Amino acid sequence: MLTHVNSEITVFTRCHKRVFTLANGHFLSILALQFTTGYSAPFFPNVTNPNFISLLAGLALLFLLIILHIMTTKLGFTKMDIQEFETWITSLKVARTILTVQQHHTYNPAYAQFKGNNHFELQKGMKDYHINHNGWADIGQHFTTFPDGTILTGRSLEKSPACITGQNANAICIEHLGNFDTGKDNMTIEQRDTIVRMTAKLCTRFSLPVNTNSVVYHHWFDLSSGQRNNGSKNNKSCPGTAFFGGNKVSDCQDKFLPLVSIITQPTAQLTGQIIKYAMVTADTLNIRTQPDANSPKVTDRAAVTLGAVLRVYEEKNGWYRISTSQQQWVAAKYTVDAKLATVSTNTLNVRSGPGTSFDKSGAFAKGQELFTVEQQNNWSRIAMDNKWVSNVFLDFK
Ligand SMILES: [Zn+2]
Repeated sequence: MLTHVNSEITVFTRCHKRVFTLANGHFLSILALQFTTGYSAPFFPNVTNPNFISLLAGLALLFLLIILHIMTTKLGFTKMDIQEFETWITSLKVARTILTVQQHHTYNPAYAQFKGNNHFELQKGMKDYHINHNGWADIGQHFTTFPDGTILTGRSLEKSPACITGQNANAICIEHLGNFDTGKDNMTIEQRDTIVRMTAKLCTRFSLPVNTNSVVYHHWFDLSSGQRNNGSKNNKSCPGTAFFGGNKVSDCQDKFLPLVSIITQPTAQLTGQIIKYAMVTADTLNIRTQPDANSPKVTDRAAVTLGAVLRVYEEKNGWYRISTSQQQWVAAKYTVDAKLATVSTNTLNVRSGPGTSFDKSGAFAKGQELFTVEQQNNWSRIAMDNKWVSNVFLDFK
């Protein structure tokens, strides 16, 4: 719905004068386009007729609304400010069970590449690089934050991210646009505020305790094996040596998490209602409105995917209800039971089979949580591929 005009409008920007002539039948979006492509500074119409001034004011508002609306979703990503994010994530249904929130910086692109209006282009650039250069199926991260405090969505939350080798199951990955190593980009107040509020909101939404087992920095994991070594060997500096005063575990505990804890809302403890966890063994598993393969699929949430751990609230005729309050069911035969366990030793090796003779392929550290799905000789498989850990060093819940 756009108004037609027949007028000549003179516009002064701070340094320039431009005349736009619009013939009867031209859409006002043409004018909006000229403004947005040529000028971003405030402008003042060179007219004295009050009616015309109010018409222009109305049109300016309309243009703004159109522009904002167009910019909300583009190239498959959605842009929000932190307040919009807080509302959106509260009502979003997520079947994957989340245990960790990862913090990263993008390093490149960084602040020099951010022009104030190229969020989508930068995000698309990262996605293309991840697909074409890294060979991934999609952009690696779930979210990117920007220097102006806005957030763009990336990979679906129903899929594991591709952000920390060996540590992506049950994780949410956030990339913060910038290079936050000492002496590089100086994080803006807007981005800082968004990172704190976003981390707090994710901890609230997914019932995560605010500690260094749930909120993790890339720096704490060995780059090749994914072993958590708290930054002692073969690590990236990510999310930056100056990220909230440092990238060490102690920096996170002393300088970042206190900011997060202050605004984290206490959540109702849901674990009492969960009767068990189940890991998806099919590539894609539909969610249906009844415990019956002929019932319709739910329309307001995405199907779940291989490796996701679901929370089961009811079991009926070989089907699992995965929502606390709604009729949302998956066929149990496409899942295996999963058990939540906490690592009780300083270093728990991950091996390619159930025994110490199998190759080491990573490690977890004390206090980390993981899901196990199969038991053999007192060893547990922890994913759909061949990753095993000894039960001796696990506390099952
Ligand atoms: Zn990283």
